[in-house]
Amino acid sequence: MLQLASKLPGVGTTIFTTMSQLAHQYQAINLGQGFPDFAMHPQLIALCNKAMQEGHNQYAHMYGIMALREQIAQKVHQLYHAAIHPETQITITPGGTYALYTACTTLLQPGDEVIVFEPAYDSYLPNILVNGAKPIRIPLQYPHYQIPWLQVAAAITSKTKLIILNSPHNPTGSVLSSADIEALRQIVANTNIFILSDEVYEHLIYDELQHHSLLRYPDLLERSFVCFSFGKTYHCTGWKLGYCISSPQLMQAFRSIHQFNAFSCDTPKQVALAQYMQASTDYLELAPFFERKRNLLRKLMTNTPFVPLPSSGSYFECYSYAHFSNENDVAFATRLTKEYGVTAIPVSAFYHNATDHKVLRFCFAKQDTTLIQAVERLTALK
Ligand code: PMP
Ligand code: GLN
Repeated sequence: MLQLASKLPGVGTTIFTTMSQLAHQYQAINLGQGFPDFAMHPQLIALCNKAMQEGHNQYAHMYGIMALREQIAQKVHQLYHAAIHPETQITITPGGTYALYTACTTLLQPGDEVIVFEPAYDSYLPNILVNGAKPIRIPLQYPHYQIPWLQVAAAITSKTKLIILNSPHNPTGSVLSSADIEALRQIVANTNIFILSDEVYEHLIYDELQHHSLLRYPDLLERSFVCFSFGKTYHCTGWKLGYCISSPQLMQAFRSIHQFNAFSCDTPKQVALAQYMQASTDYLELAPFFERKRNLLRKLMTNTPFVPLPSSGSYFECYSYAHFSNENDVAFATRLTKEYGVTAIPVSAFYHNATDHKVLRFCFAKQDTTLIQAVERLTALK
């Protein structure tokens, strides 16, 4: 028998795969894993087909095709007034997850400490651990899931290398404010601390709030990797294409890792996205589109005993069941799938110690009929 020591002992299978498999097995309506159940724009599909027909089928440039990087630079200039150089500051990646992993691998040395907030998107901790660094976990304040900055300041040591931020936040839908940015600025000023900012839900922000992208703040961008995903913006999570933006100095280090890993990304999709972005700014319609769906889910859920923990961003909203069941959230989510035919994600999965506030995460990136049908099933709950 071969011996293999795991670099990530005990991590098991991700909650997204586990719950999607369960949904499939019980033919439940899947409001668990975050992906739309409606079609992406046909024109983007047509452009991708066209790019293949026209022969864009060989390796792309290792930083991503220039036309796409230029479109991204223009977009972030318009949205965030950021002066980003496409040659030195943008790298196209095979998904946002890969960008996060590469940023961690670029920065982290064994023994470094990384401040990470829980609940945490599921890839952050493994990315820290696999690089031999030490997670310093700080819980977001339930039920609003805000960052306790005094606790962050107290957790800083000479070994602190990185702070990981995620806004709009998965799984809770909380959003960073300008006060958060100011608190962050004060903590990192005159230190050698870097920032990893996961902004894959940049456009999915509601209640007239503004996305505080780190791209808006040159003094913070200097020490930041900012990660994005085309999957979220163009309803094509299966395309697994994203990008990272940073300072020229940090991006050079990022690319030194990237060149020996993926090296480059899917060419026809990049060609298609560059052409599509040139002609369309339909990402500006995403906020009202998803805000309406969030409101629809919230309204429908008033017919069930669930209580919302309001979300102002992402395509998730969390709901508490604490007042009507004592079951732990994994058992409850499992029973919901098996007995009621609706799948959600137990939020304890995003805590290292399985903190259980009896909260489930529901994804509303679904057709209205899907949401209506799912909640109809949940009305049977007492
Ligand atoms: N970060 C967060 C917070 C996410 O929810 C996701 C899920 N899509 C990702 C990163 C990864 O994006 P991608 O699918 O492009 O790898
Ligand atoms: N980001 C998606 C979610 O949070 C899932 C991504 C995945 O399955 N790895 O549900």
